[in-house]
Amino acid sequence: MEKKITVLPGDGIGPEVVASAVRVLQVIGKRFNHTFHLGYATIGGAAIDQHNNPLPDETIDMCENSDAILLGAVGGPKWDQNPPELRPEKGLLRIRKHFDLFANLRPVKAFPSLLDASPLKREVAENVDLMIVRELTGGVYFGEPRMRTENGAIDTTVYSKAEVERIVENAFELARLRGGKLCSVDKANVLETSRLWREVVEEKKKDYPDVRVEHNLVDSVAMKLITNPGHYDVVVTENMFGDILSDEASVITGSLGVLPSASIRGDNFGLYEPVHGSAPEIAGQGVANPAATILSVAMMLQYSFGLKEEAAEIERAVSAVFDDGYFTADLARDGGRTLSTNEWTDKVINEIDTSF
Ligand code: ATP
Ligand code: MG
Repeated sequence: MEKKITVLPGDGIGPEVVASAVRVLQVIGKRFNHTFHLGYATIGGAAIDQHNNPLPDETIDMCENSDAILLGAVGGPKWDQNPPELRPEKGLLRIRKHFDLFANLRPVKAFPSLLDASPLKREVAENVDLMIVRELTGGVYFGEPRMRTENGAIDTTVYSKAEVERIVENAFELARLRGGKLCSVDKANVLETSRLWREVVEEKKKDYPDVRVEHNLVDSVAMKLITNPGHYDVVVTENMFGDILSDEASVITGSLGVLPSASIRGDNFGLYEPVHGSAPEIAGQGVANPAATILSVAMMLQYSFGLKEEAAEIERAVSAVFDDGYFTADLARDGGRTLSTNEWTDKVINEIDTSF
C-alpha cells in the first residue's frame, strides 16, 4: 500500500514525539511492505514564526493532497500574548474546521504495567477498554445567539438532524469494529437537542441489529466512568458532554503521555494527534513520552488505511516495552528503567523489528 501523510510537528515537545512516531511508522512500513510518503509542513507557533499565520495556505494545500495528517502539539508561552488571530491554537481549530473533522475519537485503555498509575483501584482500572466518540463541530460551542446581555449571558445549543446522524452513524460503525456495544449519552430528560439525539440513535439502530445500544444520562455516565468504567465500549455524545467526559475518562490511565486521538469525518481522511499538549517546560530535553503519538499512528493505520494488523502490532510493541520495565521520565517508577524519548522509541522499534 502507498499512502501520503502530512506531518505537522508543531511546537514544544511536538517535534520530538512526532519524530519518534515517524520512526515507528517507517519500521511498520518496512515490515509490512507499505510505502508512506511524508511531507512536512508548519502549524501553530512554528507557522506563526515562519509565515505569520498559524495555518498557512501551503499547509492546507499539502494536507489536501494527503491521505492523513499526523500532528504533534501546538502552543507555548512564546505566543501567549499574541492577538487572537495569531495564537497557535487557532491553527488547530481552523484545520479541524477546514477539513470538517466532526468526530473526535479517544480510546482509553489501561496498560497492564501502568495500572499503579491509575487513580482507580487496580481491579477497576484493568477492565477499562473504551472509546469516547465526541461530536466536534456543533453544539453549544458554536450555536448562535451567544452574547453578553445587560444582566446576563446567552449560549445556545444547536444541532441539525443531519449533524447528529453523521456522528451517530460513525459511532455505530466503530461499535461494530470493536465490541458491538454502544452507549449514547445525552440529557434527554431536560434538553431538546438531547431528545433529537436519542431519536436519531433509535432510528439508526435499525441499520445495526448487531450492535447493542443503551441510552445513558450524562450525569450518570460521569459517575459510572469512575465506579464501573469496564462497563463501556463505545460511548457517543455531543460536543460539550464529550469534552468533559473524555477528560474524565483520560485520567483513568494515569498518564497523559499514553493517550492517542483521532479526528475523522466519515471517509478515510483523518487527523491524528496525542491528547496531551506541547508541554513547553520539558521541550527540547529529549525526555517527553512519545507513546501517545506512536499510538496515534496506530489509529491512523487502522482508521484511515484499514491496516488493523499493523495497528495492533504497534499497540503490542508499546505494551511489551512497558512490560519489560522501560519508561520515560513521566512514568518513572521503582523497578523500572527511565529512558530518553529516543531510547524508549528504540525499544519499541526493536520490539517490532525482531518479532518477525
Ligand atoms: P495545552 O494547553 O497545550 O493542552 P497543558 O499545559 O494543558 O497544555 P500539556 O502540555 O499536555 O497540557 O501538559 C500537562 C502536563 O503533562 C505538563 O506537566 C507536561 O509536562 C506533562 N506532559 C504532557 N505530555 C507529556 C508527554 N508526552 N511526556 C511527558 N510529560 C508530558
Ligand atoms: Mg490543556
